[in-house]
Amino acid sequence: MKLILSSLDLKYELEAVVKLFLPAQSFKLTVASTHEGQEGDICFVKREKKALMTSLFVYCRLDGQVANEAGVILSENESECELKLAAYLYRCLSKLTGKKPQWGIITGIRPVKQINAMAAAGLTDEQIRDRLKEVYLCSDKKINMAFAVAKVQEDILASLDDNTFSLYVSIPFCTSRCSYCSFVSQSVESSLPLIPSYVSNLCAEIRYTGQLMQKIGKRLDTVYIGGGTPTAIDAAYLEAIMKTISESFDMSQVREYTVEAGRADTVTEQKLRVIYDGGARRISINPQTLSDDVLKAIGRKHTVEQFFKAYEMAKGFGFDVINTDIIAGLPTDDFDSFKRTVDGIISLAPENITVHTLSIKRAANLNHSGEYDLNADAEKMIDYACDRLIVSGYFPYYLYRQKDQLDGQENIGWALPGREGLYNVYIMEENQTIIAVGAGASTKLVDRSGGRLQRIFNYKFPLEYNKHFDLMIEKKNEVGEFFGLERA
Ligand code: SF4
Repeated sequence: MKLILSSLDLKYELEAVVKLFLPAQSFKLTVASTHEGQEGDICFVKREKKALMTSLFVYCRLDGQVANEAGVILSENESECELKLAAYLYRCLSKLTGKKPQWGIITGIRPVKQINAMAAAGLTDEQIRDRLKEVYLCSDKKINMAFAVAKVQEDILASLDDNTFSLYVSIPFCTSRCSYCSFVSQSVESSLPLIPSYVSNLCAEIRYTGQLMQKIGKRLDTVYIGGGTPTAIDAAYLEAIMKTISESFDMSQVREYTVEAGRADTVTEQKLRVIYDGGARRISINPQTLSDDVLKAIGRKHTVEQFFKAYEMAKGFGFDVINTDIIAGLPTDDFDSFKRTVDGIISLAPENITVHTLSIKRAANLNHSGEYDLNADAEKMIDYACDRLIVSGYFPYYLYRQKDQLDGQENIGWALPGREGLYNVYIMEENQTIIAVGAGASTKLVDRSGGRLQRIFNYKFPLEYNKHFDLMIEKKNEVGEFFGLERA
């Protein structure tokens, strides 16, 4: 398949639209002003400026079938032209494939943020709905979902104090690598020699950050220890990290403290004790699926029984919130087995349930080994999960999309009323500064009144993090500069 564009600057949006319809196809991108003479499957997109008008044209041919759309707009506004072309392309490919991806041409990862931005620009709910439907071709179902999330977030965002920040601590190690994983996480076994120095550097970075934030005068609001699987490392290391956090920051006004335990095979009484005594009251224990066969297929190396045991153990400790992650569209999973997963998790009544959709990029990697069928029923799975969660009393409270998710779906965090994860909302809506420490972590500096947002990336892998630790600490000074501190 060839994607032929009259101009390369159209590439990003239009490639994303083609991938929505033809996820598993590789395509060649070329620049040309006509599709004449081109053979086989093609999508041709042309934008031509004439005086004050811009003419737009899309022509698609798949398996010998043709669809095209053309129009003229009285504007040179680049983004309006791009949106129109993306809509033409969507409609042509929809005609030829019979598919109708529900988010339409919304390719950004934060649809709720888009709604909030439109509301801030003065649009009424009705105008926003019309724009999402008419311009972005979004389905009523997804529009309702995005509005429901925005509604739940209202109070959470209103409770935000601009003088606060959240802390993210990265522990990028896992007991083994899940076959669909694209994170920087490394297996504990292969990185065993790195862990002592990693933990000691991480503690040094936490201490430095504590002093820096004190100088800046911002107060710690939420803490999130994530990974990887933070519980993959020894209890003593985890304890050292959590102790360093409490000694380096004023914890007296922290509203939420999460540790992602992640995999059931890493959860022990001793580690849960460390987490609880260290002050965390929100914990994640993630089965991803309640099928042993699927767990085996994705290389998670724990059983469903282990998950239930870990979950019960965590319940026994009295954590305020337990979150469980599940994934729609996992290799070898099918609708009935996913249904059993959803029903089984809801029957436990965890305070939070996060429903992810597998990303095609990851699935496609698996597909290279011939292990995976891309025809997973992700849309049907997600619809089932949404319906069951709603009738079971859960509300969607944060939503984000990743590139290349199966059937153009999304990830949604669900919560029982009043049990929403604050950190998840703040990071997704980009409303609060998140100071991140550790390998692979990225700091997000937010100045809402000045409309500024800046990211600072730490070294990605533990090895380079350890090796270039001094440089990384030096980089942390950018946080101070952002908030007006003179460099030391
Ligand atoms: S537990 Fe999560 S981070 Fe670790 S390998 Fe599996 S998917 Fe990746």
